[in-house]
Amino acid sequence: MDNSFMEKVIEDELFFPADREISRKLTGWYLEHKRELPWRETEDPYRIWVSEIILQQTRVAQGMDYYLRFIRRFPDMASLASAEEDEVLKYWQGLGYYSRARNLHAAAKMIREQYGGKFPESYDEVLSLKGVGEYTAAAIVSAAWNMPYPVVDGNVFRVLSRLFAEDTPIDSQKGKNKFTRLAGLLMNPAEARLHNQAIMEFGALQCVPKKPDCRQCVFTDKCRAYASGQVEYYPVKQNKTKTRNRYFHYFHIIYKGNTWLHRRLAGDIWTGLYEFPLIETDTPSDFATLQGAETFRRIFADTGELRITVERPKEKHVLSHQVLDITFYRIEIEKPSATLASYLQVTPDELDAYAVPRIIHLYLSGF
Ligand code: SF4
Repeated sequence: MDNSFMEKVIEDELFFPADREISRKLTGWYLEHKRELPWRETEDPYRIWVSEIILQQTRVAQGMDYYLRFIRRFPDMASLASAEEDEVLKYWQGLGYYSRARNLHAAAKMIREQYGGKFPESYDEVLSLKGVGEYTAAAIVSAAWNMPYPVVDGNVFRVLSRLFAEDTPIDSQKGKNKFTRLAGLLMNPAEARLHNQAIMEFGALQCVPKKPDCRQCVFTDKCRAYASGQVEYYPVKQNKTKTRNRYFHYFHIIYKGNTWLHRRLAGDIWTGLYEFPLIETDTPSDFATLQGAETFRRIFADTGELRITVERPKEKHVLSHQVLDITFYRIEIEKPSATLASYLQVTPDELDAYAVPRIIHLYLSGF
């Protein structure tokens, strides 16, 4: 693939200030097609920050309700900084990637302590917040204060790599540098807010990953990937991420209506959330095999006869690099074992107050 055109663009920084056609077309398209989203109606950095963190791994349609509920409960930095982590996680329940919520909460406390609760106003200070990377920092400072920092997210990588038929892998440092530089060159610094939102929205709605409608695109005559008939070849990645299969077997143990939970520890998915007693295996296991496991024997030692009233067959739960195969067993016991004392005994009324992974929430809701 010939990269010389893009190299030339990047070398010749004078090219773009004189020709802002790409940015003009993007912003023109944006003003006509943009979605009305609540975080676009504000220049409050706190609200923009919350929306950016929610949208890091979440689609807009799903993130909207969460954003509105979150902002209703935590309308400003002070309310978030003074909340308990468990409550913040509860408001995040179902969104996944809970480290985002923990980092958001930790950063709010840091802002309260270091900046007197006022959102920091320089790019470097915003970048130093927990959970904020280069993309998020650029998105916040450009949307809140119109600072000329280009955003480069998955949508922007896709749009630029196609427009310029650029095949430097986007997951390489070289690729990141190149695309960030190009994104900066394309931007009119006086319209950073508008330009950044336009290019991201263009990637989200028009230049979509699969089968974009290139014949109805403002760049039909300019897009090099379209001209070469290789739109879906871009963007190029060097590392295809390996997926790990995990098998979770949850025991929803019932005794006099109560059940048992425990809190997941750091260093794995769902840190800080609550779950039923669990046995994890590397391969699929049936109930008879689980009964032979040491953990099972400890949990159910001297619990009397086990009445399995629900055996919820395997649920597939796909995370970014993992596929979880999850089975639920609802098991009534005659008396609790000594091991269960190390778990948290929870009454049916209390159960709803605990933040649990979405898959457990769905199970408890009877789905
Ligand atoms: S022509 Fe197609 S590939 Fe090129 S920018 Fe437009 S939608 Fe994207």
